[in-house]
Amino acid sequence: MTEFFEVLATDGAARAAELRIDPAVQTPGRIDERVIDAGSLWVDDRTEPSLTPEALTILPHRAMPTGTDERVVAAFPPAGTDQEGAAAAVITPASVTAVDADVYVLSGARGMMGHAAAVVDAILAVRERAPEDTGLYLAGCADPMNVAMLVYAGVDLVDASAAAAAGFDGHYQTAMGMTPAEDLTERPCMCPVCAEGEGPLEDPAAVAAHNVHALDVELRRIRAAIDAGTLRDHVEMQARVDQWLLGMLRRIDQQYAYLERRSAVSGRATIRATSDDTLRRVAIQRYAGRVTERYENRFRHPLVLLPCSARKPYSTSQSHRQFYDAIDYRAHVVSMTSPIGVVPMELELTYPAQHYDTVVTGRWSATEIEFVASVLEEYLKENPYPRVIAHVPDEGYRVICERVAASVDVPFEYTSTDHPTTDESLEALGETLSGELRYTKAERESKTIQAMADYQFGRGVGPVLFPRASTELNGRYPKLQVCDSDGEQLAVMVPQYGLLALSLAGARRWQEMVSSAPTVHIDGFVPHGDVLAPGVVDADTRIRPGEEVLIEGPEAFGVGRAVMDGQAMVEAQRGVAVDVRHIEAL
Ligand SMILES: [Zn+2]
Repeated sequence: MTEFFEVLATDGAARAAELRIDPAVQTPGRIDERVIDAGSLWVDDRTEPSLTPEALTILPHRAMPTGTDERVVAAFPPAGTDQEGAAAAVITPASVTAVDADVYVLSGARGMMGHAAAVVDAILAVRERAPEDTGLYLAGCADPMNVAMLVYAGVDLVDASAAAAAGFDGHYQTAMGMTPAEDLTERPCMCPVCAEGEGPLEDPAAVAAHNVHALDVELRRIRAAIDAGTLRDHVEMQARVDQWLLGMLRRIDQQYAYLERRSAVSGRATIRATSDDTLRRVAIQRYAGRVTERYENRFRHPLVLLPCSARKPYSTSQSHRQFYDAIDYRAHVVSMTSPIGVVPMELELTYPAQHYDTVVTGRWSATEIEFVASVLEEYLKENPYPRVIAHVPDEGYRVICERVAASVDVPFEYTSTDHPTTDESLEALGETLSGELRYTKAERESKTIQAMADYQFGRGVGPVLFPRASTELNGRYPKLQVCDSDGEQLAVMVPQYGLLALSLAGARRWQEMVSSAPTVHIDGFVPHGDVLAPGVVDADTRIRPGEEVLIEGPEAFGVGRAVMDGQAMVEAQRGVAVDVRHIEAL
């Protein structure tokens, strides 16, 4: 029953998909006139209608308000259909698993609007229980303000009835809020209705038409954001429009596992850090977790803590070039930054360390200070150093260092007066390192490859896959290639994603040396092009979109990048599961 809904791309839990009725509906989208509702069984006995290719048919149903007793829900299981065609079933989170459908309609959703926890919990529960390639339709709920948050939570289809009804009530809506149509001075919109005059809108039907237009505009912005991988930026802005939307965002963020499973490990888009809610993002939390759990400092040198730079990667910035000159291979460098936390120099290319923008005013919020201090403290407990030199400006950085210094054993030495880039400060930095041993550029590059492999593949994997004694590095940072001692290429660094891409020989080595290497098991065939979901027999549930994976089957072995998460690969009947880089027939 899932051949009528195909997921084409994801951005966290949000999906760009296609509802395959004729003509197809792109989602997230509005479905109004494309729905045939067979009606409620509460009021009448109804027979199942014939399904048509042009519409999504909502099968005869019994809607249940939120909080309906489980025994009542169980007494009236939703009905499915054996007919060929796009069918939707009205369900509650408790009954979604009882019926096959292409689209699920959440019962009683309208009554949950305004109640952040109720609506988020219901959407997440349905999405967790429904098969991956089915759609979720929230009827009678969407307006231009809330629709982005609904989609971010996991909704695919909406309609315009709530927005239109508000319009007939005289409420003029845009994505930025709602005002009485009679109070309008200048109309903040150029839709056909608004463009046709000025001042207050008198006709309720005109207000309704405008609201529907505003909803369509917002849906276009949402689809573009999913395409660009920036929906999170979008909803952090939408959360400022209404308290209950901020409540929704925070409730979604509390369900970390739900979002984390669906979030890619790398991204093209720049994170625009805008608020304290930015710190709750999966990309930020996952990075902080992986640095603590997977990263291992392999330098035996003093630590120099540096402020971040606006230019990424940090080592290409003017300030960091000055710092590196002063340090002269005598210390390990870690940059401190909000909203990322701490970035060891080997990980400066990893996502999202070079994929964010932030205001460099020097004024840190209490939440930012708390976050960076806790990550730094955790980092220093995992990675002890003989000396810690804090070459940081006063402002927030110094406060963080002083707070952390109080809870670790090694004393902090401060080398910056006034500003870290003054001649005096740079001289002090160089001076304090006099007598320290130097490491070589080759040593630094080898440790960089190992640290990136640890970060990407798991703690301790780097030196196992790429031992310094039997690998050589070619090319120029940040485009290094790792070869074995016979000169065969094992992996290359992909600077824009901050990831290592394995060759077939590298994949073989990964398979042999690391028993836990994430693997996608496929049927007895040799993939030509991508591995599609129906060809997947089993997949490691730890696989996240964007991750390097092994491909193994009776007839083929290969390596590629996951497009779906592991669970979705197994469940989905359609779509690309793995973007294959190298494959060989066995
Ligand atoms: Zn308008």
